[in-house]
Amino acid sequence: MIKYHPTQELLISHSGAQLPLSLSIAVSAHLEMCSECTTVTKKITAQQSALFEAQDVSNNVNFSSMLDKIFEHKPDLQVEPKKTAINRISVAGNNYQLPRAFSHFTDLKWSSFGAISRARVVKDTDNIRASLLHIDKNSAIPSHTHKGYELTLLLEGTFSDENGVYNKGDFIWLDNDLEHTPFTKTGCLCYAVQDAPLRFVSGISQALNPLGQLIY
Ligand SMILES: [Zn+2]
Repeated sequence: MIKYHPTQELLISHSGAQLPLSLSIAVSAHLEMCSECTTVTKKITAQQSALFEAQDVSNNVNFSSMLDKIFEHKPDLQVEPKKTAINRISVAGNNYQLPRAFSHFTDLKWSSFGAISRARVVKDTDNIRASLLHIDKNSAIPSHTHKGYELTLLLEGTFSDENGVYNKGDFIWLDNDLEHTPFTKTGCLCYAVQDAPLRFVSGISQALNPLGQLIY
């Protein structure tokens, strides 16, 4: 069961198309897996469009142009093709089906370092980078903190850290200066968004630098 969700502010920004692509993908993919946030988002969208219409009326849209508007929305007879998720991926000997939010990214290139594999998905402005990360079973990412934020959306498998146990669909937002050591018993596939490189704890940062480069 999903325990960690995007904040209401994030859902509102997402509905208003105000998020950078990297985060918008994360929220969209979470919504595909979470009926609770889908319900909240529907309410937000309804409120936003009610507000928009109210503004429209207060902008003195006259009666005839309102009628024009109503009649210009003829029913669309074209049947939209059924959306099917096409993104099946194969990484480290495992096959996964990605959420539809990833269906534009058909050319994923994986790099590996030890138990960790990464495929870059998006590089946004402001140093925001988003990747798919796969961690082999019974493996950990060494203890680290973040200079910025780290969002992890768990797509398959489970992992745990000092703060809890995470399941498929969990949307985990960490701010800087929180130290953690994610470990996965089952192996897991995540979508990770960061706005700065990881900072490995105490003296091992040099040795692990390639891993830091890989993950960010
Ligand atoms: Zn949710």
